[in-house]
Amino acid sequence: MPENRTPAPAQHTPTAYGWCSWHQGYSGGVRLIQVVEQGSGPGGHVFACASCRELHGLVPFADQP
Ligand SMILES: [Zn+2]
Repeated sequence: MPENRTPAPAQHTPTAYGWCSWHQGYSGGVRLIQVVEQGSGPGGHVFACASCRELHGLVPFADQP
């Protein structure tokens, strides 16, 4: 059986492109800040870009104790 799966590119830089909930716009290098759990309504993941993290002193979810 041939191995047809293309190996994922090695990406160690956290340069995900996504929605920043702080300045309400798309930006590169967003990080997950917190996971919102809501019983009703759309919960979800809250992301912030690098400049907003610096501006608001946000700690990425993965870096929190
Ligand atoms: Zn931002």
